[in-house]
Amino acid sequence: MKYRPITIAKIESGIVIDHIPAGKALLISQVLGLNALARKTGNIIAIGIHFDSKSLEKKDIIKVENLSLTRNMLNVVALIAPMATISRIEEGSVTEKHKVEVPDNVGDVVICPDRFCITNHEQVPCKFFVVDKSPLTLKCHYCETEFFGPLIRYKEKS
Ligand SMILES: [Zn+2]
Repeated sequence: MKYRPITIAKIESGIVIDHIPAGKALLISQVLGLNALARKTGNIIAIGIHFDSKSLEKKDIIKVENLSLTRNMLNVVALIAPMATISRIEEGSVTEKHKVEVPDNVGDVVICPDRFCITNHEQVPCKFFVVDKSPLTLKCHYCETEFFGPLIRYKEKS
């Protein structure tokens, strides 16, 4: 099949999260709470799923108007899409572009898989150490459970 260039709504200012593994854009959007953010601010969000990519086989892409990402939001992107690139767009052109970096610590965005963990019984914000970046392996700050792969489940906002 021939390479099809991306055509997705252009934004005048905001950020573009590119090189997301195919199928992960909606998860990122949900963990970041982009839907609620769009509703609140009136800014548009464009999500492209399963685009052709030169570096990955298939990729997703997210464009968010008038948004800059906080450190916590960048960390979420890095956990789910460690190869992602973030571009800042101002007046229609890219002013900054960088790759995300997997953090050493993860905040209250992941659920501890140990059902006896205090974080699953009390209102305690989750906290994890990144013990391995590839494959991503987390260790709970409270119960010290180490886990990776499908056991890493994210807290999704609506
Ligand atoms: Zn735990």
